[in-house]
Amino acid sequence: MKAYAGLGEQGVALDWLRGLLKGTLAPELLDVAFKTELDLNGPEAATRLMRDQLRRQPTLLALTRYFEAQAAGLAPAPALAGGGGEIAADAGETADSDKATEVTAIRDLLQLRTRNLARYTCRECGFRARLFYWQCPGCNRWETYAPRRSEALG
Ligand SMILES: [Zn+2]
Repeated sequence: MKAYAGLGEQGVALDWLRGLLKGTLAPELLDVAFKTELDLNGPEAATRLMRDQLRRQPTLLALTRYFEAQAAGLAPAPALAGGGGEIAADAGETADSDKATEVTAIRDLLQLRTRNLARYTCRECGFRARLFYWQCPGCNRWETYAPRRSEALG
């Protein structure tokens, strides 16, 4: 993605990633596609991408990214934007702020619960690591990590 960004052709890479999501899901791929969609096309497009992904393959990871996109699309809360003193006047604004509170609460909870699910696992000693290692920090053997994460419920 960095190489494509250097060429100014992130859109091409994003199209390619979107196509890959229709096949077997690699969690890292989902993250890259999500981040690129969000950066290039904004929260609404990222929400749509994750909604499609949830229909194809409902995972906690996709659900978390879905709510992250929704939260990114929210208008800033009046207290943050106005520096205090502004109070939501009509019912519409109150409903918006209720929804914002719900969306951010769900996002925060999902992030908290899924943060520790993504792990690389050493097939020799079972050491589970957040980062990919060529040499296992647990048993010092080389190339014992599968290149794909496991998203196990822990
Ligand atoms: Zn090991």
